[in-house]
Amino acid sequence: MKLFTLGPVAMYPETLQIAAQQLPYFRTDEFSKIMLENEERLKRFLHLSNGRVVMISGSGTAAMEAVVSCSLSNKDRVLIINGGTFGARFTHLCRLYHIPYDTIDVPFSESLTPEQLETIDGSRYTALLVNIHETSTGQLYSIELLSAFAKKYGLYFIVDAISSFGADPYQMDQYGIDCTILSSQKALALSPGISMIAMQESFYKEMVEPKEDHQLYLSIKEHVKNMERGQTPNTPAVGILLELQDRLRRIEEQGIDVMCEETASRAAYFREQMKKLGIQVPEYPLSNALTPILLPDQAVSVYEKLKDKYGIYVTPSGGDLKNQLLRVGHLGNQSLDDYEELLLRLKECVL
Ligand SMILES: *Cc1c(COP(=O)(O)O)cnc(C)c1O
Repeated sequence: MKLFTLGPVAMYPETLQIAAQQLPYFRTDEFSKIMLENEERLKRFLHLSNGRVVMISGSGTAAMEAVVSCSLSNKDRVLIINGGTFGARFTHLCRLYHIPYDTIDVPFSESLTPEQLETIDGSRYTALLVNIHETSTGQLYSIELLSAFAKKYGLYFIVDAISSFGADPYQMDQYGIDCTILSSQKALALSPGISMIAMQESFYKEMVEPKEDHQLYLSIKEHVKNMERGQTPNTPAVGILLELQDRLRRIEEQGIDVMCEETASRAAYFREQMKKLGIQVPEYPLSNALTPILLPDQAVSVYEKLKDKYGIYVTPSGGDLKNQLLRVGHLGNQSLDDYEELLLRLKECVL
């Protein structure tokens, strides 16, 4: 099985070895130390100097829901960059929790432009919400552009970086990012089931702490209280937190920048090969995490052939793009041989 998916992705042998072990009991000093070690490393990798991280047992959407429901209210008005299914998820959450919002829509195949932002009076909003890499299309929005907009109007800047972190450079302090959402199964290449919320201390103090909880399981406040001693309110996904400790240690040895560069070079190599094969790649700015390829009227059959005949999994699309677009993920434990195999089989499958 070869995975060119976005999550789960191909995991590393060391992670698989940890996943095979008996889980320890977790209300111990030893486990608390692991949690706090994970928090410190994540803060370093995110370039977050004065803030905190909480770990939610649930996939990335759980952390998105926790952030929307615990930091925003019907007294806020938020601006959402909506360029695909994950942008739409933020709008869905805002509707469910009665948070007024407007969107900047980015239709498929178009780029988010400075002109789109210029027409907007940002002073009407309290927060800007974006999935910095809109995974459904592969578009990476300009962090400089969005950060400047948020700073200009004094908006809280909330970024879902789930599929970008570890693939593209990312800096919370430099870009004034108040809150970052991460998840275990993308570039971290762990089992799905842990999502992470990294917050500037000021964001937590101003937006989360004063609000009354209407959440139990997803309460950020409860998670923060427990995390002060390296614990969680409920039984966490203990095994994934141990996988996380191992991965973060290894990433630190290598350097998070080097990890991003390696992903970038896999992406560049694959994109070069697509050019040679005459397979079209959309023109908007791309994350290193994946390459979208346009296969009009044959995306489904190519996806199925690769999977059923060769055990190669690329990522299919949904909705209108279902038979038009495949996404080839560059995350996780992939070798050059894996790419040679994928390229060979793609050549066979594409008409
Ligand atoms: C994967 C992903 C999520 C989370 O999806 P889950 O299935 O809940 O893990 C959220 N946002 C983005 C941009 C993603 O790529």
